[in-house]
Amino acid sequence: METLEKLQSIINDSFTAEEILTAAVQTAGLSKVVLASSLSVEDQALTHMLCKSNVQPRIFTLDTGRLFPETYETMEKTMARYGFRYEILAPDSSELEEMVGTYGPNLFYQSIELRKKCCMVRKINPLKRVLSTADIWICGLRREQAVTRTTIEPVEWDASNNLVKVNPLYNWSEKDVWSFIEKHEIPFNQLQLNGFRSIGCAPCTRAIKDEEDLRAGRWWWEEPEHKECGLHNRPKKN
Ligand code: SF4
Repeated sequence: METLEKLQSIINDSFTAEEILTAAVQTAGLSKVVLASSLSVEDQALTHMLCKSNVQPRIFTLDTGRLFPETYETMEKTMARYGFRYEILAPDSSELEEMVGTYGPNLFYQSIELRKKCCMVRKINPLKRVLSTADIWICGLRREQAVTRTTIEPVEWDASNNLVKVNPLYNWSEKDVWSFIEKHEIPFNQLQLNGFRSIGCAPCTRAIKDEEDLRAGRWWWEEPEHKECGLHNRPKKN
């Protein structure tokens, strides 16, 4: 809680994303700050900012085993451009074997419960392992991304993981993100050019039309209020 209060007293609405990142690193120390990257354009922008101002930042990614080939290509290009190695987290093999052995490899289409179970095994459990080593978790969440994200603050307490969550891009628009990517020639997932605007695992992501909601291509068979994998669950407002 001390880190949260300190950051909340430092950061105000006039802070840029870079200034928020700098405040996070100065408050907790570089080894206790982790950036969670899904290789989205938001996370690519944050990776650029973090690598430009820090030597050997901690950037991790969850390799669920079901990612698109283009996502792995983006990982390689990004490490080559900035000269760092991702902390790559994989699901626990025995948990994974038990799940796919019981429900089959494509269990996520059977029910919301099984979809959440798959996200738990492939994403959330590995995530918890790495977050237990950190005091601050940097995320690329933006308010306008989804109905589940409209109340995001730049600094928040994540009670389920017991650490501070920092969202430097909380008030950025999608256009802001792309302007930053283009200005700094940052590598990005080439699927973005083919209508994939929010990219997760291959079986759970489809291309969308321009007029569709940004996250309409994620778990498209579910209602919008269910469209979180559990990584970024937020308390419900009364
Ligand atoms: Fe499983 Fe789909 Fe969640 Fe990936 S996004 S972990 S494949 S349910």
